[in-house]
Amino acid sequence: LKSLHKGLSKTRRGLLNQLKLVLGQGPLSENAILEIETILLQADIGINATDYIVTTLQNKLLEESLPSEKAIEYLKTILCDILNSPLKQAYDSEILVKKEVLNIWLLTGVNGAGKTTTIGKLAYLAQQCGHSCIIAAADTFRAAAVEQVKIWGEKTNTPIISNSGKNTDPAAVVYDGLMAAQARNVDLLLVDTAGRLQNKTNLMEELAKIRRVIDKKAKNNVHIESLLVIDATLGQNGLRQTELFSEAAHLTGVILTKLDGSSKGGIALAITQQFGLPIRFIGVGENMKDLKPFSSHEFVEALLD
Ligand code: GDP
Repeated sequence: LKSLHKGLSKTRRGLLNQLKLVLGQGPLSENAILEIETILLQADIGINATDYIVTTLQNKLLEESLPSEKAIEYLKTILCDILNSPLKQAYDSEILVKKEVLNIWLLTGVNGAGKTTTIGKLAYLAQQCGHSCIIAAADTFRAAAVEQVKIWGEKTNTPIISNSGKNTDPAAVVYDGLMAAQARNVDLLLVDTAGRLQNKTNLMEELAKIRRVIDKKAKNNVHIESLLVIDATLGQNGLRQTELFSEAAHLTGVILTKLDGSSKGGIALAITQQFGLPIRFIGVGENMKDLKPFSSHEFVEALLD
């Protein structure tokens, strides 16, 4: 919680104080609306989510006169509702690993987003929560990616499945990973998949092939999550990436990295509002321990503290 609070410090900067100044004076004047919109847009909450927030807030204030504190509390519930909407339930901050199935998490994301680091952090977090884990290094396009994953494997004591050098088919690596995961009866298979956005068709084909391998070998008894890693410092560019990837992959969620260095943490709201994708984890630093399961409540409290 502390690291989340610290992580959001740049996004939060003054947010609450600015809002306090305009809230608590009955329904919003046109000026106040403009001001709130500016404040929210500066935190990279995005146009759609901002519109929704301001309209919902104004409707409430027209109905009922709320003192500043109550108006802020109401604002927090609006933000939580947006973050929870993809799952239609409140987020708990438990790790996603399901019981009695092989969990397969496919991670995608452009180079530099923090995908490799996140895989290492996820392996660590899973093990901390008592789940056994294997990593399949299926981003075979970049030799460095495989090497990097191996370093994380050593750091976190996680077995790595990678190709022997000759075979560069990502689906083959996933196949081997699947075999190893089943043989060892692990809870979680983490798959480092490609992030080549510049060629959407290739990416789609590659991911589809990986899916076919999984379907063929382990149709029952698997739970698949397809998670996109997005760098939170990118702001609106991150939204563009989410859009492109959601067209190429059947995403089930997003992992937001580098929230610690970002003044654009509001992108979490833009992503859920615009794409209906839940934020699943957040990265708040470069170390192994700096990944947290996402909680809407904690996030909103840290944003508006
Ligand atoms: P990849 O190319 O997507 O695999 O990205 P990497 O995992 O290599 O990460 C790129 C850089 O971002 C590295 O220097 C990481 O240490 C850094 N990084 C990753 N996640 C975070 C995070 O949550 N916070 C911070 N501050 N840095 C991060």
